[in-house]
Amino acid sequence: METCWIRSIKSSREETFKSLMITRRDYYKILGVEKSASTEEIKKSYRQLAMQHHPDRNPGDKEAEERFKEAAEAYEVLSDPEKRGIYDRYGHSGLNGAGYRGFTDFEDIFASFGDIFGDFFGGRAGRTRARSSVRAGADLRYDLRVPFLDAALGTTTEIRIEKSIRCPTCGGSRCAPGTSPQLCDLCGGRGQVTQSKGFFSIRSTCPQCHGMGSVIASLCRKCSGRGKVRSSKTVQLKIPAGVETGSKLRVRGEGEEGVSGGPSGDLYVFITVEPHDLFERNGNDIHCCVLITFVQAALGGAVEVPTLRGRESLKIPPGTQSGSRFRLRGKGIASLQGDGYGDQVIETVVTVPTNLTRRQEELLKEFERLENEKRGS
Ligand SMILES: [Zn+2]
Ligand SMILES: [Zn+2]
Repeated sequence: METCWIRSIKSSREETFKSLMITRRDYYKILGVEKSASTEEIKKSYRQLAMQHHPDRNPGDKEAEERFKEAAEAYEVLSDPEKRGIYDRYGHSGLNGAGYRGFTDFEDIFASFGDIFGDFFGGRAGRTRARSSVRAGADLRYDLRVPFLDAALGTTTEIRIEKSIRCPTCGGSRCAPGTSPQLCDLCGGRGQVTQSKGFFSIRSTCPQCHGMGSVIASLCRKCSGRGKVRSSKTVQLKIPAGVETGSKLRVRGEGEEGVSGGPSGDLYVFITVEPHDLFERNGNDIHCCVLITFVQAALGGAVEVPTLRGRESLKIPPGTQSGSRFRLRGKGIASLQGDGYGDQVIETVVTVPTNLTRRQEELLKEFERLENEKRGS
């Protein structure tokens, strides 16, 4: 029997002690085997103890937890001829001297002996790996050109996106229908192989299963063993009034599927607004030019102007110049923030008539004569 000190903040028996002396139990006694036990006997005994004290069976039971760890430590030493030899000759301190530190936590134990529980607990080691590889799906990008009026007024549309989905034939298992993955015989399902070099052991990813712990004998032919297939999907898209070039729309959950139950990514639609023949956008205002005759410009009157929502009548005063600007309040684009509408700004362009008739020429000459008289008087 040997003793060593471990730090313990709280002991159920001796609350006042910061440290608690414990006695390390004999590995053979822990496993309940004779000193002369064969490797098979040791394994069988450990297996029974591990099953009995397995944390999945004794959730929250500290006592069972300790027994489970203790058994794992005893098994690790006694199942390894080199360590067992040291222990037989020099006891616990011999192992300490050789650098053996035991296990730090459960994950460590499962990573080393996962295969022992594998058949009984559905492969704890495999489950831990799967849990740690849960990932959200990637976001997708879609570039969409939107006609000017649709962007200004809002619309709904459909887009077709391509993404990877779980293979419908194998359900993502990557195995041909009717088959299932086989435990990797090289690493025994641990996904890692351990090489012993003296007292050190080096762990590396299993070269046969690449860390998966299992190998697939016959791959699903539909997805060539990838577990996913490309698929196109129609997505309904609501384009709010007021989007502009550079706007991004997010469609939640329409990105790539997550891995191992992780959430799907999102779809981002990048908007490019197509130009319009008549309208130009400036903030939430719409700009356009209207042609007026020089008579309309001089005499004033009502002219029809195009707007986003149809034609409107615009009153222009007498003496309107080319380049004069008029505003139709609230005829612009809806604010994306929901606080009203922009204006429509109309710029006049005065046109000069061509191909005059003789009569028109006479009248214009007369008009000029009267203008000169007016200035002269
Ligand atoms: Zn498949
Ligand atoms: Zn393997």
